[in-house]
Amino acid sequence: MRLKNKVALITGGSSGIGRESAILFAQEGAKVVVTDINDEGGQETVRIIQDAGNDAAYFHADVAKASDCAAMVEFAEETYGALHILFNNAGIMHSDDGNAMSTEEEVFDLTMNINVKGVFFGCKYGIPALQRAGGGSIINTASFVAHLGAATPQIAYTASKGAVLSMTRELAIIHARENIRVNALCPGPLRTELLMKFLNTEAKKQRRLVHIPMGRFGEAKEMAKAALFLASDESSYTTGTEFLVDGGITAAYVTPE
Ligand code: NAD
Repeated sequence: MRLKNKVALITGGSSGIGRESAILFAQEGAKVVVTDINDEGGQETVRIIQDAGNDAAYFHADVAKASDCAAMVEFAEETYGALHILFNNAGIMHSDDGNAMSTEEEVFDLTMNINVKGVFFGCKYGIPALQRAGGGSIINTASFVAHLGAATPQIAYTASKGAVLSMTRELAIIHARENIRVNALCPGPLRTELLMKFLNTEAKKQRRLVHIPMGRFGEAKEMAKAALFLASDESSYTTGTEFLVDGGITAAYVTPE
């Protein structure tokens, strides 16, 4: 068991990467606090974990709200006695996110509030808990778009993930001597709800697939395995990284036919 005696908090745990990570972390011995704004999905994640005989609890928290983030950390410590792993994973990709001219200010602000401020709030309230626990691991979900520009624009989303990546580096440096590691997980294009809603026609899917050397979208389960490595003591000398798990997309200049 790779996370025995650890307590993990995962934001955006109702679906996709968050749900798969919650299930995997619990299988590996962690007690998992699942948080989200989608209560039904979050409770379903917890049910799946408990049905497998493992330990998890759900807490409603909007990561864009400071008070919710303070409360979710408090809930984790009260419920399980400590917090060792903080996975700031919740994020949105707004359907009206486009180029600089077409994107409304409200869409930009909402995206930044959830994707960037959400990570900031997670850390603002989570880091003191990790310090109380004697250290721990923070994983922030960024994206391959923090590394590559796309001709199908999502200007707010791309800006938000760049911010998550640079914030992660600085957090890693600041807390390196406190036994707190901070890493970014940079997924490639995944076959989850979030992206499939955006690439909603076969033509749009194919347009993206052309650029992925492996010729397929990634799976949330594959991200969970990468997150498990960053969460566990196996990555004890790893901090400040941008862990790319992307089917090779950022390495490619030309992809195979
Ligand atoms: P998903 O939509 O399946 O999961 C995102 C979860 O976040 C949902 O359960 C949603 O309810 C929750 N959420 C949304 N707003 C929230 C808020 N304000 N407070 C709390 N929870 C909120 O998508 P996913 O693909 O699993 O995405 C997880 C992370 O991975 C996101 O940060 C996303 O940007 C990132 N990511 C996804 C892809 C991809 O291709 N799917 C690629 C790179 C990065």
